[in-house]
Amino acid sequence: MPELKQETLYGWGHFPGARCLSYRPEKRRDLDALLSRHGEALLARGLGRSYGDAALQPAGTVKTERLDHIISFEAGEGVLQAQAGVTLADVMALCIPCGWLPPVIPGTKHVSLGGAFACNVHGKNHWRFGDFAEHVLSIRLRLASGEIVECTKQDNRDLFWATAGGMGMTGIIEEVTLKLRPVASASLKTTAYRVDSIADMIAAFEHYRSNSDYMVGWVDHMADGGAGRGIFEAASHSAPEEGGAPLKKFLSPEIKFFLPCFLPSFTLNRVTMSLYNKWRFRRYSEERREDIVGFEDFFHPLDAIGNWNRLYGRRGFFQYQCLLPDAPDIVEQVRTLLSAIHKRKCFSFLAVIKYHREGKGYLTFSKEGYSIALDFPNTRRARALLPQIDRWVADRGGRVYLAKDALLSPDLFYRMYGQSAQDWMQVLRKADPAGRFTSLMSDRLQWKQLP
Ligand SMILES: Cc1cc2nc3c(=O)[nH]c(=O)nc-3n(C[C@H](O)[C@H](O)[C@H](O)COP(=O)(O)OP(=O)(O)OC[C@H]3O[C@@H](n4cnc5c(N)ncnc54)[C@H](O)[C@@H]3O)c2cc1C
Repeated sequence: MPELKQETLYGWGHFPGARCLSYRPEKRRDLDALLSRHGEALLARGLGRSYGDAALQPAGTVKTERLDHIISFEAGEGVLQAQAGVTLADVMALCIPCGWLPPVIPGTKHVSLGGAFACNVHGKNHWRFGDFAEHVLSIRLRLASGEIVECTKQDNRDLFWATAGGMGMTGIIEEVTLKLRPVASASLKTTAYRVDSIADMIAAFEHYRSNSDYMVGWVDHMADGGAGRGIFEAASHSAPEEGGAPLKKFLSPEIKFFLPCFLPSFTLNRVTMSLYNKWRFRRYSEERREDIVGFEDFFHPLDAIGNWNRLYGRRGFFQYQCLLPDAPDIVEQVRTLLSAIHKRKCFSFLAVIKYHREGKGYLTFSKEGYSIALDFPNTRRARALLPQIDRWVADRGGRVYLAKDALLSPDLFYRMYGQSAQDWMQVLRKADPAGRFTSLMSDRLQWKQLP
């Protein structure tokens, strides 16, 4: 049996936490032993970068961090096969110098390939490149029976798409084969400028949609009643002759600063965050600012600070991300959402907007529309407000992103994810008839308790 430990585990939001029996298998045969001898519930866990309770299973959490071997990398084709515990940081460090980049990159590179597939993560280019799973050629999945199944978009298709975004419910992903995209340099040409309203922000997304590779908007939720000014940024891959950094020299940078302990919960308050946001906003003007920016600064600015989640104190925080389908009144909807939250005196220290296309898979978060990600300290007020926002989002045909969720209720989950969630349950019943793979999230959302 693999190494076994009792420990308190959390998601990245540090809420909730749970005492968990955890295993750290190193070899495939450790998983054989685990599945044949451990009779209780089980759940795979990558690097714990999902924010809420998705990667917590008190009876048996299987940490994949030692299943971290790269099995093969075809530098001519840009195809990488790796164990599920290999991180995106490892993949970038290996592949970028050879001219290949993961097509979908979330806001941190410290995620495992298994976790990226199980959450079917997205990046700032969703409307162009879709979700992570769209670029995965195959996975090897360990079912509750111990059987290993190779799943592709052709063979065991249902299992492939039920595992993509399936939050660990079908089994343990052991390996992932990923198709990378070619790049000519390790930099992007960015264009960034201030916008004074949500209408200008959405107009910027519409304008840059056809001629950029990435787009992201940041809203200063502390100013203008929460739904006003912000910064819009578009980016495209740059060629070496445009000043792009040489691929060969790409080194995944070390963490520049590490927060050694939790800060008091009051450190991030309205005053400190208003000052920070003001400073951030004033770095830009209404003039379009063009820069050549390295991958790391564009994709992963937050990774420069290790454990930045400790800024919120021990009580932790919620990152809430919802998607609002595109509609003629989308500007009004985004404005209403942000200002209603502001009026309730719940201020989001981060408010990021991205544009998505329709996603693939049973539990894809993405529809054609705009996602809004917000950070709230874990307070009574936030815990009361978020379920109200869930309802408001569901009423508009929107969805909450499960990788960041900690509070959604079962009825709203089924309203948001609709028939597709019911179809997913059918696949789960076949893949895991005894309901062995569960988590605190699946218990909360009653995924494996329905008849
Ligand atoms: C700073 C930051 C920025 C982020 N930005 C983005 C973003 O831009 N876009 C986005 O989509 N997400 C984003 N996220 C969320 C993050 O990308 C996802 O939650 C990701 O899946 C976490 O990977 P992990 O390895 O830490 O998985 P964990 O958090 O450990 O697990 C997440 C889920 O995957 C399952 N799982 C993990 N490994 C396996 C496996 N081997 N087999 C089966 N199931 C498995 C777990 O059971 C759990 O349900 C961000 C998170 C952070 C902290």
